[in-house]
Amino acid sequence: MTGAEPKTEWLPGSDALDAKGFRQDRGAEVQDDWPLHRPPYPLETSLPGVFAVGDIRSESVKRVASAVGEGSMVVQFVDKVLAE
Ligand SMILES: Cc1cc2nc3c(=O)[nH]c(=O)nc-3n(C[C@H](O)[C@H](O)[C@H](O)COP(=O)(O)OP(=O)(O)OC[C@H]3O[C@@H](n4cnc5c(N)ncnc54)[C@H](O)[C@@H]3O)c2cc1C
Repeated sequence: MTGAEPKTEWLPGSDALDAKGFRQDRGAEVQDDWPLHRPPYPLETSLPGVFAVGDIRSESVKRVASAVGEGSMVVQFVDKVLAE
């Protein structure tokens, strides 16, 4: 039931959570508090290198297919972060 009750408290950066505790991704938009020169990758949270996919992501559609799709999609962005 992670989708119903997000377990995000162990991650630092509580400002990256929405009112219900779900992780917000930045949708590749640069916000004032973004600390890096590069813009955030899709699905990357306000914490550089931390991505939110599936139910844990704020405003996700809470479906298996989308969670799996986001999971496969995010791999290429994780690879980019690891290469930085
Ligand atoms: C009752 C119910 C019915 C549903 N019916 C449908 C349906 O018919 N069709 C559909 O498409 N979707 C359905 N869903 C939604 C679907 O189950 C979710 O969208 C999908 O499982 C999300 O996948 P996920 O990997 O993001 O999260 P999850 O499947 O919740 O996986 C997250 C995993 O992380 C683990 N975890 C949590 N915290 C930690 C931690 N600190 N360390 C390590 N592991 C941790 C959890 O134990 C869990 O195994 C249903 C959901 C529920 C609750």
